[in-house]
Amino acid sequence: MNKIIRTKIYTVIAFLIFFGTVEMNAQQVIEGIHYFTGQPVQVKINNGMIEDVTTLDKPVSDNPVYIAPGFFDNQVNGFAGVSFAFGESDLTPEGIEKATSELWKKGVTTYLPTLTTNSIDVLTRNFELLSKAVDDKKLRGSIPGFHLEGPYINPEDGFRGAHPKQFVKPPDWSEFLKLYEASGKNILQLTLAPEMEGAMDLISKCSQEGIVIALGHHNADMKTVTAAIDRGAKIATHLGNGAANMINWHRNPFWPQLADDRLNISIICDSFHLLPEEIQVFYKVKGVEKTIITSDVTHYAALEPGEYKTSTGETIELTEDGMLRYPAQNVLYGSASPITKGVGYIMKVTGCTLADAVQMASTNPARLYNLNDRGTLEPGKRADIVLFTLEDSQVNIQKTWVKGEKVYEQ
Ligand SMILES: [Zn+2]
Repeated sequence: MNKIIRTKIYTVIAFLIFFGTVEMNAQQVIEGIHYFTGQPVQVKINNGMIEDVTTLDKPVSDNPVYIAPGFFDNQVNGFAGVSFAFGESDLTPEGIEKATSELWKKGVTTYLPTLTTNSIDVLTRNFELLSKAVDDKKLRGSIPGFHLEGPYINPEDGFRGAHPKQFVKPPDWSEFLKLYEASGKNILQLTLAPEMEGAMDLISKCSQEGIVIALGHHNADMKTVTAAIDRGAKIATHLGNGAANMINWHRNPFWPQLADDRLNISIICDSFHLLPEEIQVFYKVKGVEKTIITSDVTHYAALEPGEYKTSTGETIELTEDGMLRYPAQNVLYGSASPITKGVGYIMKVTGCTLADAVQMASTNPARLYNLNDRGTLEPGKRADIVLFTLEDSQVNIQKTWVKGEKVYEQ
């Protein structure tokens, strides 16, 4: 063999080894107990997607490590000191990255940064900043869009919750459109009070645009709730919260929202926002298909217990056991627990299976926003995957993959 031919052969071999290695790196195999079937499985991922899920002939250990699609939280006001909602926060691209990577550690692979009632200037600025996160390669598609909760809510104490009164206003389509443009048309959900003047028009227009309308922080009667659903409203935001402490026994917003089978609900399962019997009843009425676990988690989540001042001047208290309160009105001020806690907690109080809990924390939200590339553990879906153990109804995340890349290992 002459020297030139030999060099050529070596080059070809080097080429094959190089690309073979790249191929092997892109392809990974993860094993775990399938969250839905309870069977040991091998999940093959390739180029960020799930390629294959194969059942293995293996015994299940006493302390199984479960494999499931990553969790999807549709209400994240902030996390780990980073607020999406406030004006004076240090909301920066780095802050968004920090909040996202801290959520990955909790198994949350998709979330909707949630902007609550504030001045239109602050909302516009924050949406403009956040709009760049949707395509930010470092975030790997974890932020598909946003949730706007307010400012078109009921201004009455109690129903308004901790939303600052001075910024609550009547629904206004042209104003909303400006916010929608600022978000890069990435507002996926708008929570509003349907009884406010102009709300029905806004519900119709948003629904035509494909924006999910959610009913929340409202005191609507049966007729109004039905009319809102007729016009396309799809979900009740954190049902059982965002209401006054004293309500009419017969005529209140809960019965009509529970009674209409078309309406989905989101519920905060952090053990503070709802009593076990409330979760039990809501779950019995709506079932696994219509229930979504949400967190309403705020940027106080990772901070020390104590009193804090919000940028709009309210005093907020984070208690030792993780409850976040707005003492002036004796209402809760969002949550300090990520959705991960809710997955275990709803199993504990309702007796539902892990398959049901994951459906309510991954599959259902993905379906609600038509994000068909995620939410289940099936070939062709994004490889957004969590491995976790389950002890005393507590989900302990061990590893997280986002679009095929391992982003967290305990
Ligand atoms: Zn709320």
